[in-house]
Amino acid sequence: MTSVLPNFLAGRWQSGPGAGTPLFDPVLGDELVRVDASGLDLEAGFAFARDEGGAALRALTYRQRGQLLANAVKVLQANRDAYYEIATANSGTVKSDSAVDIDGAIFTLGHYAKLGDTLGDTRLLRDGEPVRLAKDPLFQSQHVSTPTRGVALFINAFNFPAWGLWEKAGPALLSGVPVIVKPATATAWLTQRMVRDVVEAGVFPPGALSVVCGSSAGLMDALEPFDVVSFTGSAETASVIRTHPAVAHRSVRANIEADSLNSALLLPGAQPGGEAFHLLVREVVREMTVKSGQKCTAIRRVFVPAELFEAASEAISAKLQGITVGNPRNETVHMGSLVNRAQLDAVKDGLASLREEADVIHDGTTHALVDADASVAACVGPTLLGVVDADKASRVHDVEVFGPVATLVPYRSIEHAITLVRRGQGSLVTSLYGADLVALAEASVDLASTQGRIHVISPDVASMHTGHGNVMPMSLHGGPGRAGGGEELGGHRALGFYHRRAAIQASQTVLDALRRLG
Ligand code: NAP
Repeated sequence: MTSVLPNFLAGRWQSGPGAGTPLFDPVLGDELVRVDASGLDLEAGFAFARDEGGAALRALTYRQRGQLLANAVKVLQANRDAYYEIATANSGTVKSDSAVDIDGAIFTLGHYAKLGDTLGDTRLLRDGEPVRLAKDPLFQSQHVSTPTRGVALFINAFNFPAWGLWEKAGPALLSGVPVIVKPATATAWLTQRMVRDVVEAGVFPPGALSVVCGSSAGLMDALEPFDVVSFTGSAETASVIRTHPAVAHRSVRANIEADSLNSALLLPGAQPGGEAFHLLVREVVREMTVKSGQKCTAIRRVFVPAELFEAASEAISAKLQGITVGNPRNETVHMGSLVNRAQLDAVKDGLASLREEADVIHDGTTHALVDADASVAACVGPTLLGVVDADKASRVHDVEVFGPVATLVPYRSIEHAITLVRRGQGSLVTSLYGADLVALAEASVDLASTQGRIHVISPDVASMHTGHGNVMPMSLHGGPGRAGGGEELGGHRALGFYHRRAAIQASQTVLDALRRLG
């Protein structure tokens, strides 16, 4: 039997008493490690984080906390090679895909470290200027934000074990709020290893950073009114979180990132062979294949003018044809595996559902696996589907296949295209492609209320844009409606979730004293 990864809770390493749940190599099928969270005293662990970790973090200024994040960045950078090895073994990702997770995590944490420096040596955030409440200007109202006196519980998805931790922990710890992370079981190893390295380096005060690997049982029950919970995963589990008494009755603040049917839209007027057309084709192929399409931001629906449907089908298929799939240890492989066989089955089921109203343009099953046994490995080739009648098709707007699958959809006019994008019921991101800068701006505004982010790719930014699916810490991540209604990142905006805002109504003299505090 492989070793059981210990949990870090209440300031000490604790192993569950059971045999644990095994984690596997999704390509070779080997068991790697085990996790077990049974028997932990969660209440005591959460109380320790709240009381010890919270108090120690709140005693520091934003600049000092930013310095701790910078120290954590150094530890993570020093251990990068080990993280890549774990990602290859446990997530089945090729090196460039592991980088999206691992280096994306380190970059994001570094961003919040620097933000701490700009916030300076203060322990509260003033929100706006004082506003007069009475005729006499002596009595005014000043809004302030101070860190919530609770813990931040992160319940994370399997697809970003590194970034999923640090993109949340950066803003939380910078805010002065202790973190307890529960990674998805399938890929918990990388999260646990990163926490272990940072804990062993003594970067944060005791209780500031904890990890629980294994079952989620009891975690939500341990939450109290000033705690917050941030969830990433399926819509089904999201509804369990939303309706849990901690959220429904104890007002625990919840942030939800769930499913999303993200879009790419080629604006009218594009020419086959033109730059906008090529930019769309390149981005669609990249989004379908990076991390085998297991990105919450990946392009699932591709909208093109009806007269370009054939040309887009051919151009995307031609590029997909060249994608090699298989063992990520083989350097000729572009695309590794899905996270496990259960996800492989889910992708096959999703494809079968979409195929009931879509045609196969490029068939992923035609890709022979490189250095991988199809009866063991969770590998699947990229599949491009197409619908003929965009108005009749409904599943393309409803079924999120969490793998290398996208559907091409023809549209008649820009109004028609925007209506079709909105049928996704709210998404994390839509990317727009075109050369008419005014039309791009207009489409962005039309779509903004239903998207968390609009990524606009015009020829002038072709060589510098950051990618449809790449989540940058300076920009908002999250989306309305189906996407969960959550908000993360967006630079300093992320700190709002971990702070409580209050209005202080007082004499100007008191507010002047407050100004000197922060
Ligand atoms: P999931 O099954 O919802 O699991 C997400 C997290 O919730 C995991 O840590 C899981 O722990 C935990 N969990 C499960 N049941 C719970 C409960 N009753 N109470 C509290 N926590 C619970 O999602 P997933 O397996 O990671 O991914 C499944 C699907 O989610 C994907 O196919 C995809 O459609 C979607 N997804 C969306 C995003 C996004 O950002 N939009 C990202 C990733 C995945 P265990 O792992 O221990 O079960």
